[in-house]
Amino acid sequence: MRAVFEDGDQYLGHRQEGAGAVIEYSGDDITFDYETRTIHPDILGLLCLIIFYPFIGRRVLFPMPVSTRLEQAFSNENFERQFSFDNIDPGIKAYSGTRMALAFGGGTDSSAVRAMFPEAFVVHEAHIRQGRLVPNHTHSIVHDLAVDRGRVVHTNQRFVSAPGGWHGWPCSLATALLLATDYNFGIILTGAVLGATLLNSGAKYWNRFTATETQGITGNHWQSAFNQIGIPVFSPVHGASEFLTTQLSIPYIESGEVFSCDKLHGGECKLCQKCFRRDVVRAVVDSEYKPPWSSYDHDDVHEYLEARPLHMGHLLSFARDRLDNLPEFLRSRLEDLPPISTDWPLRVHTRTFDLCDETWRGTIRSRVLDHLAPMEPAHIAEMESWNPAGSAEHHRPGNGEA
Ligand SMILES: [Zn+2]
Repeated sequence: MRAVFEDGDQYLGHRQEGAGAVIEYSGDDITFDYETRTIHPDILGLLCLIIFYPFIGRRVLFPMPVSTRLEQAFSNENFERQFSFDNIDPGIKAYSGTRMALAFGGGTDSSAVRAMFPEAFVVHEAHIRQGRLVPNHTHSIVHDLAVDRGRVVHTNQRFVSAPGGWHGWPCSLATALLLATDYNFGIILTGAVLGATLLNSGAKYWNRFTATETQGITGNHWQSAFNQIGIPVFSPVHGASEFLTTQLSIPYIESGEVFSCDKLHGGECKLCQKCFRRDVVRAVVDSEYKPPWSSYDHDDVHEYLEARPLHMGHLLSFARDRLDNLPEFLRSRLEDLPPISTDWPLRVHTRTFDLCDETWRGTIRSRVLDHLAPMEPAHIAEMESWNPAGSAEHHRPGNGEA
């Protein structure tokens, strides 16, 4: 994909998540090692927009005319910048497909979705950075699936701007979008968990259900744009914490198919904050598992534990009160976190299924409830009251795992 910049477009833009950090696009073509046979114009248009939105000025001309559905999706006021769509064909029929796809990162959360939805076609993005493949053990896991079960797509899209990183969380869906028309995908499943979508990374509850009034059915304007063009996106673990996703992925963890970190030659380093948090969570749901605590007793993890609000602090609070023999370096840094008295982190918030496209809602809901117990009103009330800093501020959370 090559963006043709014209007057008004700019190479500096803002990342479409979190604090909206400034990014500078190199101008490199976006490459994928998958050649489409067919692609619906709205899907191609959306693919262009998720990657190039930060840099578009006054107007956009797509490679093929797109429908008014795509234009309407992007006229939502939550998109901070508005521009004209210069080639529209109102006659384009809406895209629809019938197969589930899973945008698979390879970590615990998307592995949990893989465990519950084995029929979903697995799409994994392999990152190319400055011409070289970024190692990740997940590549071989997906390569080993049958051709009708999964596909690794190599692309440089994550590293075409400085600083590196996707231009926004919807870019994690780019490879699934690319394949969608050829593979007849009808929905893209993700592994975005409760902490990322409703708890603002553990800082405070954020009411995504009222956000649907302005941000569309999914409660997030970017995600709703996918639904509006006929390729809905939904996380079956939207209402579930990492305790549940870890529990669900234990069979894959034990068979060596889950990699939440790629810092050690493409595999888990067992040193970083992410490995640390995964180990704390696993220790709660897997009594056989004994984390290598001493490898986390260093400055980087200490600093993480001392920061407030504590990133994903609800997980640490719950673990603190349920794990015996926590090492002192850990327990002493968690004493101020409010306790969680009910077991809401071990249950799924079923209202999150309202954020799913109607066509798929019943199937997904019943499958998830075959695996997970639902939160009752008392659990929901305690979950919604999570606010360790006593903060009155509202922040919009991100939308899932990177
Ligand atoms: Zn690590």
